[in-house]
Amino acid sequence: ATLMRSLVKKRVPLQKGHMCYSSVSTAKLFIDGKFVESKSPEWLDIHNPATNEVIGRVPKATHEEMLAAVDSCSRAYHTWSETSILARQQIFLRYQQLIKDNIKELAKLITLEQGKTLADAEGDVFRGLQVVEHTCSITSLMLGETLPSITKDMDTYTYRLPIGVCAGIAPFNFPAMIPLWMFPMGMVCGNTYLLKPSERVPGCAMMLAKLLQDAGAPDGTLNIIHGQHDAVNFICDHPAIKAISFVGSNQAGEYIYERGSKNGKRVQSNMGAKNHGVVMPDANKENTLNQLVGAAFGAAGQRCMALSTAILVGEARNWLPELVERAKGLRVNAGDQPGADVGPLISPQAKERVNSLIQSGVDEGAKVLLDGRNVKVKGYENGNFVGPTIVSNVTPDMKCYKEEIFGPVLVVLEADSLDDAIRIVNKNPYGNGTAIFTTNGAAARKYTHQVDVGQIGVNVPIPVPLPMFSFTGSRASFRGDTNFYGKQGIQFYTQIKTVTAQWKAEDATLKSPAVTMPT
Ligand code: NAD
Repeated sequence: ATLMRSLVKKRVPLQKGHMCYSSVSTAKLFIDGKFVESKSPEWLDIHNPATNEVIGRVPKATHEEMLAAVDSCSRAYHTWSETSILARQQIFLRYQQLIKDNIKELAKLITLEQGKTLADAEGDVFRGLQVVEHTCSITSLMLGETLPSITKDMDTYTYRLPIGVCAGIAPFNFPAMIPLWMFPMGMVCGNTYLLKPSERVPGCAMMLAKLLQDAGAPDGTLNIIHGQHDAVNFICDHPAIKAISFVGSNQAGEYIYERGSKNGKRVQSNMGAKNHGVVMPDANKENTLNQLVGAAFGAAGQRCMALSTAILVGEARNWLPELVERAKGLRVNAGDQPGADVGPLISPQAKERVNSLIQSGVDEGAKVLLDGRNVKVKGYENGNFVGPTIVSNVTPDMKCYKEEIFGPVLVVLEADSLDDAIRIVNKNPYGNGTAIFTTNGAAARKYTHQVDVGQIGVNVPIPVPLPMFSFTGSRASFRGDTNFYGKQGIQFYTQIKTVTAQWKAEDATLKSPAVTMPT
């Protein structure tokens, strides 16, 4: 709460339940354990997406500031990587409790900067918190392997060790969850961490940094810089940075993967998506329609795992009118308003882009069954709102199908059979998530085995794995070898040292040099 007050100065209530800010505050850099004002001449405005009021400013950190941040990470690495694993574990045990204690404050900040509803913002924190909870099992997760007696008197064992300074580049859509996929996993393994939050939602990351400091993380173990392309290029190029975790669009992710890899870094890049929900005619109708609507329009469709494409198989095509009725029931409003289901999009540009993709569907022969383009939200006329939109008669060659819309728009295709549906899904370049809705186990099994997508739900619309598993998006939704969090996350943030040791008894000492390969 104290940090929120310092992030955003003097609040003035405009109307019940809604705040505006009389003076604009600035997002600080977090360098070597201090929250410092940037000396940058270049600043970006932060907007409340529900009103488009400027609520703060974020700097594009200067080159010197970015150097200071990475130098701080490098210095801290020497001691942090040698700190006992139990001490690191204790910090994250305290951290998860502090996040729990502050979940409502974090959620308020997310709603203010990102726009999603307060309940959904709590979910954003909660799903990140689960990763932090999982890091508390580091004493098991970092275990090496041993194989005794590989030959006489010789044992082999491995240590899992940190790799150095790691960096994270985050998107706007999950201001808490995605940074929490990044630095806690990296740090608990003994790495130090440089985070660049999305320049559109920096506040939540700053509050998470403060809580981590309160949990006892030593100065320099986490540093935070702000900015856009220059900051990203700095991270991709700086030789002290050994690994980069990225989440965001394909345009940025492909670029970062290429530039970071060329510089010899490990890169894991989670990118865009087009997630299909395949509805079989034998599915539980009530359940399926509710799940589809929730997963397509929740968070205003600004989730990489949003179920943005429905494929209605056979007779399930007759469910469209009921699907539309359910979507009509959702309430579009500012995220902090009671009863809001669908909040605003992040920016006027995002709204314009979503509207133009809807229009492209119309121009190419699709039918708009529910049109959210002209939605009016009383008291929030300047917000970036688009209401739930359902576009039917869509075919795979249409722009609204090919592009990730990232808004509250469900595009609907039809298929004659499960095989046809699988063909459509596998032809789409993305492989983040998908779901099948059915009561037929054999159909579900066939789908999960034949569909080329990394995360599959069976009657589960948004199958984001819990942190004991990993976030396994695939194909155009991911670049890299090891995925985020879970065992793969530990693998990404560690390297393995293998020791082969021989302890011979005195009487077994070699009598002459061995010049041939041992057999
Ligand atoms: P974005 O790519 O615009 O921004 C992400 C980060 O990259 C930001 O920190 C930004 O400063 C930086 N960036 C932006 N453009 C860049 C460029 N051209 N070069 C270098 N860096 C750049 O993404 P966003 O709009 O913040 O987030 C939405 C996107 O993220 C969607 O495509 C969504 O599917 C994707 N996403 C994917 C996952 C996943 O797990 N696969 C999760 C969340 C979001």
